[in-house]
Amino acid sequence: MDRTAPFAEVVLPAAVEGTFTYRIPNELASIVPGVRVVVPFGRGRKLHAAVVRRLVHEPPPGRQVREVLSVLDEHPVVTQDQLAFWERVANHYLCTLGEVMLAALPPQLQLSSTTRIVATDTTPSAVVDDRRLTLLLDALERERSLSLAEAGDLLGVKDPIRLAKVLIDSGALGLEERLAAGYRPRQVRHVVLVATERSEDRIRHWFAELERAPKQLALLMRFIERSHWVPGQPAETPMTGLLSSSDAGRTALAALVKKGLFTIEERPDSPPPVTRPMAEVPALSTAQQQALSELQAAMEQHGTTLLQGVTSSGKTELYVHLIDAAIRSNGQVLYLLPEIALTSQLIARLQARFGDRVAVFHSRLTARQRTELWMALIEHPDRHPVVIGARSALFLPFRKLSLVIVDEEHDPSFKQQDPAPRYHARDMAIVLGGQHDAHVLLGSATPSLESRYNADQGKYGSVRLTERYGASVLPGIVTIDLRRAHKERRMRGHFTPELLGSIGATVAERQQVILFQNRRGYAPIWQCEQCGHIPECVHCDVSLTYHKRDHVLRCHYCGRSYPPPAFCPECGSARLKMIGLGTERIEEELALHFPEARIARLDQDTARGRHGLERILGAFAEGAIDVLVGTQMVTKGLDFERVSLVGILNADRLLNFPDFRAHERGFQLMAQVAGRSGRRGRMGQVMIQAFDVAHPVIGFVLGHDVDGFLEHELEHRRVHNYPPFTRLVRFTLKHRNEERVAAAAAALMARLHPDFGDRALGPEVPSVAWVRDQHIRNVLVKLRRSDHASEKHMVDEAFRALKASPVHGAVRLIVDVDPV
Ligand code: ADP
Ligand code: ZN
Ligand code: ZN
Repeated sequence: MDRTAPFAEVVLPAAVEGTFTYRIPNELASIVPGVRVVVPFGRGRKLHAAVVRRLVHEPPPGRQVREVLSVLDEHPVVTQDQLAFWERVANHYLCTLGEVMLAALPPQLQLSSTTRIVATDTTPSAVVDDRRLTLLLDALERERSLSLAEAGDLLGVKDPIRLAKVLIDSGALGLEERLAAGYRPRQVRHVVLVATERSEDRIRHWFAELERAPKQLALLMRFIERSHWVPGQPAETPMTGLLSSSDAGRTALAALVKKGLFTIEERPDSPPPVTRPMAEVPALSTAQQQALSELQAAMEQHGTTLLQGVTSSGKTELYVHLIDAAIRSNGQVLYLLPEIALTSQLIARLQARFGDRVAVFHSRLTARQRTELWMALIEHPDRHPVVIGARSALFLPFRKLSLVIVDEEHDPSFKQQDPAPRYHARDMAIVLGGQHDAHVLLGSATPSLESRYNADQGKYGSVRLTERYGASVLPGIVTIDLRRAHKERRMRGHFTPELLGSIGATVAERQQVILFQNRRGYAPIWQCEQCGHIPECVHCDVSLTYHKRDHVLRCHYCGRSYPPPAFCPECGSARLKMIGLGTERIEEELALHFPEARIARLDQDTARGRHGLERILGAFAEGAIDVLVGTQMVTKGLDFERVSLVGILNADRLLNFPDFRAHERGFQLMAQVAGRSGRRGRMGQVMIQAFDVAHPVIGFVLGHDVDGFLEHELEHRRVHNYPPFTRLVRFTLKHRNEERVAAAAAALMARLHPDFGDRALGPEVPSVAWVRDQHIRNVLVKLRRSDHASEKHMVDEAFRALKASPVHGAVRLIVDVDPV
């Protein structure tokens, strides 16, 4: 590191291309990479907290270089490893470092200024003839400064600067940029013995002095005890602890402060170090022991290893053993899970073993909690050797990762959809592991085709765990033919009598039921019985979904709500009815069939809020719910002893949607939800309702044949040239004007065609081609794995050229590398 370098190259928290260099003034010469600095950026004088990436001797040629205004951190808050990781992410996903930074840094470390209007020496007290400016000046006399938003509200205008322009130009009003306060470590008040009173003499003096104030005397004695006072040495103790350990009370303390014995001072709060010993990890079964030694051997040979183990085989137990070993050799462990599988059940399981060595990181934490964990990892890397988190935990400041676990590695929610960086946490975990020279362990009962393929090619190590733990056996799975049930008019709502019968029997035995209903394309909609009209969103090309509890029609694409129409807007008929089948509807039907049963629903609506998910899962775990109806959410990592029946209401819906991954997803969902059944001791049962009971994918589910499915599907992918045999890049173009978006898509295709030929597909009009008033087109490119780098480069060129094009520049262009 060169401390004399006079320029800082920084990353700005914005989606801007390129790096930015600022001059370091002499008084800030202590700047090092990884600290945040305040710099002006853009037109106007907006201020941002940027992260210093490196120090350089020369500014970039031909550009005017502005100065760093101040430094926010004494020590780096972003490590060199992290900066290098950001760069890898930006390169892979064709996005900017600023976009990665926005995703990576917790909100409280990201600061941008707000512009304020301020009074100056020459501010007049009124402006003749302009009532609004007078109003503004009045307010400034009271407040001294106003943010633009405050001024705008006050004056009822969007742009108060324009209104006040004359006064600003003449210097009668000023503009000032102010950074919000941002993160400050939590402060704790301490009672501090005043420096002149530390000696033995002085303390003795106080004892005599306080003879007639017993409470104050008692407090002083407590203080001496708790602060471990040594004559002549500084002494202090946290205030709350002191007060609660004595009944002297605040008045006595206040009196002693007034008399000059104590002062009260704020100190940063630092949690106590870990002391609890780690619990013993449980003994493994023979099969598990075998798998563990295979894992250890595989991890010696390969950077990444795939653990394919059936549900309930004890994969989590194996992780616990590996985590234990990693901690004992002073390494850090990152344990990644899909957001929704990060339940208190699993966290409690890990905390029981490792105590508060385990830190948890997911989107339900507050901004402050996220920032605190980040800072704790920077300042005390030994305090939390284990971080368990959702995908964004990848960006935490690790110092010496030795193990990265990606559990449920097949799960599509590891991929961030929007905004950029559209990263896949599994793939980036492998990059991160490589950087730290850490082992990466991918675990799943139903691995992704990519991971299975890589393992089969010998690129990853591969270990299998084929039996369930203990007396638990795989559930018996049966299909129920919906086509026949309909023909024979045996359907009762959306249930076959067979499924209803089993639900009834299970609940009667005080066992639990999980019912799975995929949300995709199958939520309840309103339809006119007379003319068939279906209400659609005014801003998107989709039909609206009825939400009974709020009695509104909602657009699942833009979130807008509409009151349900009383009459058909097309033909005026009053005969509107609900069709289709969402989780809410299923829940209601069930209640009619089983009025005694306790039924609950788990989906995006009910899991909302910080504790929604925990509440429902908690109630289910305690046995306060008999039947849990839900979407995907019920398929992920739940481990409940009493679930002995799983029902899948409509398997066809899982398999028939236009995406090359449809079968992979359908298989994974069915196999995973089936795995929730009969986890301990008891033979579980799974019932799959389907129109096409002969579908090959359902066949593989019935036979618990994960490998059979993978082989079948791999062949399909090979023939059609899809991943893992190619890598995909998807472009999405959006604009209000349909012709412009179509023209831009055509231009992109024309650019890609010479290089990629028929490996560039499109432009495609997606099934929902108009969302939030924007028309959408897609272009898909299949990259060869063999010369991936050069192909990626060509894609990048096309992307940049279109963005820079004067004709098509206004069209929004989104690039998604490795879409899922
Ligand atoms: P998976 O992660 O493969 O689905 P789990 O690790 O959750 O499987 O194990 C399933 C159940 O079996 C859990 O309740 C777990 O506590 C229990 N279990 C697995 N292995 C052991 C073991 N060696 N000793 C005690 N309990 C075990
Ligand atoms: Zn109608
Ligand atoms: Zn909409």
